[in-house]
Amino acid sequence: MALTIGVDVGGTKIAYGVVDEHGAIIERGLRHSPAGSPEKMALTIADAVTELAARHSVEAVGIGAAGFVDETRSIIRFAPNLAWREEPLREKVGELVGLPVVVENDANAMAWGEYRFGAGRGESHVVCVTVGTGIGGGIVLGGELYRGRWGMGAELGHMQAVPGGRACGCGNSGCWERYASGSALLMEARDNAQADPAGAAHLLRLGGGSAEGIQGEHVTEAARQGDRAALAAFESLARWLAQGLADMAAVLDPGCFIIGGGVSGAADLFVDRVREEFAARLTGRGHRPLAEIRVAEMGPSAGLVGAGDLARFR
Ligand SMILES: [Zn+2]
Repeated sequence: MALTIGVDVGGTKIAYGVVDEHGAIIERGLRHSPAGSPEKMALTIADAVTELAARHSVEAVGIGAAGFVDETRSIIRFAPNLAWREEPLREKVGELVGLPVVVENDANAMAWGEYRFGAGRGESHVVCVTVGTGIGGGIVLGGELYRGRWGMGAELGHMQAVPGGRACGCGNSGCWERYASGSALLMEARDNAQADPAGAAHLLRLGGGSAEGIQGEHVTEAARQGDRAALAAFESLARWLAQGLADMAAVLDPGCFIIGGGVSGAADLFVDRVREEFAARLTGRGHRPLAEIRVAEMGPSAGLVGAGDLARFR
């Protein structure tokens, strides 16, 4: 049985595990992420890998990391939330562990995990949209992960949805993720609560009486209680998501979209609306098959499993 190790590196923790060829995690572990130090990061990853490799016969290591990874799957050019700049992570970890290593963008790894073993099973053209604080994405076309010429493809959240719109951390304004992410949902809910306090009774109570006190989980909870302001925020999220998916369908024509990330935990509150709005906005609608819009199935494990599985393709 061919085993690999998948590592999912985030800003606060590193999740890692031994992955088999069916996407099952044989053994897993979790460590604190030394996000501020590239040297400690490489050592921590190598230490975790060495620990598992001592107990399992593994053939390769796949590391999924939140950053821009070059097309040779070796160097992290830049990571917004980690200290990596032109970091040769593949070489560093490879030398320390004595195994072949590949590095992938974390959203690509997640998309691959869902495509191979989760909601995308059986499809060959899949677009995975990770809706969390921002929007990440991964694209599988004809059964291959699409990375782009320089490895920078599928940064879906930074398509410009609104010229001159809300400022984005990437330096541009009006990016899709400023309207269709978890942060956008929260902002919308706070704005709604301020504009219409009478329709935001649940939200404001959960927020301790003020719009600023409202947190992300409050929006979901209030929406489930029928809070008008919270429901309106989800309606806005659904419309913006649908518009982005329709735009991507115009370019990529996938068989299915997968919605993952933290916000997908509340998918029952918005995914049906996304499907309706998508069908209403799709170019050529009525004369083409409708891509399915599915909810991610693998949760936070998708990145780890996807990174491990991608290590098989070297
Ligand atoms: Zn942006």
